[in-house]
Amino acid sequence: MTRLVMKFGGTSMADLERIRRAARLVAAEVDAGHNVAVVVSAMSGKTNELVAWTDGAGKPTGKALEGDDEYDVVVASGEQVTAGLLSMVLRNMGYDAISMMGWQVPIITSDIHGKARILDIPPAKLETALDAGQIVVVPGFQGVTESGRITTLGRGGSDTSAVAVAAAVKAIRCDIYTDVDGVYTTDPRVEAKARRLKKISFEEMLEMASLGAKVLQTRSVELAMGQRMPVRVLSSFVEPGENIDQGTIVCDEDEIVEKHIISGVAFSRDEAKITLLGLPNKVGVSAAVFSKLAQANINVDMIVQSEKRSGDYANQLFTVGRRDAQAAADIMNAAKDELGYDTLKVDENVAKVSIVGVGMRSHTGVAETMFRALSDKGINIQVISTSEIKISVLIDEAYTELAVRALHAAYGLDKIGV
Ligand code: ADP
Ligand code: ASP
Ligand code: MG
Repeated sequence: MTRLVMKFGGTSMADLERIRRAARLVAAEVDAGHNVAVVVSAMSGKTNELVAWTDGAGKPTGKALEGDDEYDVVVASGEQVTAGLLSMVLRNMGYDAISMMGWQVPIITSDIHGKARILDIPPAKLETALDAGQIVVVPGFQGVTESGRITTLGRGGSDTSAVAVAAAVKAIRCDIYTDVDGVYTTDPRVEAKARRLKKISFEEMLEMASLGAKVLQTRSVELAMGQRMPVRVLSSFVEPGENIDQGTIVCDEDEIVEKHIISGVAFSRDEAKITLLGLPNKVGVSAAVFSKLAQANINVDMIVQSEKRSGDYANQLFTVGRRDAQAAADIMNAAKDELGYDTLKVDENVAKVSIVGVGMRSHTGVAETMFRALSDKGINIQVISTSEIKISVLIDEAYTELAVRALHAAYGLDKIGV
């Protein structure tokens, strides 16, 4: 018998009616002859509510809230509820189901609370249950440290749980059921003309996810790519057998026949721009700035340095996640004398818009099309960064949607066939 992992996100677990529908989809795969492990998210909105509770309980001194092990005890609980409910519903339908919490499987993770990484999933317990014909329901997002403390994997982490469980039990595929019927050329909530991609390569999906397309957590794509685990993204808002042609397969690039130059447009509003004006233009200044940020575990994304006309001074501009902006500014302020800059500016009204496509490797003029499309709409580009298969620009946040739509049209993404 082949093993299959099915993952249901928060909107697919939002209430008992949705849980029943998910159960019918699971039952159909069991009836079709699969051994199924299911990974579930908390009901939509639940994790936000739990995070707010932990905010209210206050920070223990000397620890960031997300690094607190009790934060994980609280926020991991949402998934326990849905795992139990789905298992109960399946039993009521006459199926043999059993839930297994992260610590029971066990899903062993690092001890970075709030953003732990999965280290190992010993498959024995899962496999014994699956081989006995049981449907195993595992809560996503949660794990356990080697010393037995509960952890969580960072927001959106149930996708990663699902891929990791699929790899552990050597499933034929990991099906991610969500509230859209696949991966689109851009977020369909922003551009109604977005088209579903039948297939997308691991590499492109990885870029899309890390550049802001939250349909899959970045780490889950990384893991799927490393394990060569095919992932399918599809809608849970259907009955078994309905709309069987839906979904997007995330797979190796050479399995994709119809290639596009650009596959998608991603955007992120989780950005802040920090500018240091009048830095002394001498050896070691950049190292000094960025080592201070690294020490504070602040990730820097885009960086631009420009020399002032006299050559003695430079301006430096970099971006960090918006939630880190204040901490980064505090660090720079504290080091003002040491670094010797003149003025510090923080701008949280910026967004990063990116185009992604493996076709960029072999086609010219891709960047020009992007810059022209933005300038035709009067959108100023503040920073540009590129890699082999993506180009990102930083713009005023107010123009995010306009930019996404302009780029979507500029590359003809509204016309690609599914
Ligand atoms: P779940 O709760 O099932 O994990 P998420 O809300 O995390 O679902 O992810 C699904 C959402 O991702 C969609 O509702 C959609 O708005 C958003 N999204 C962003 N970019 C894309 C894209 N390129 N294709 C499909 N969905 C996208
Ligand atoms: N419930 C968690 C979250 O909202 C994990 C997930 O749904 O993937 O972030
Ligand atoms: Mg998600």
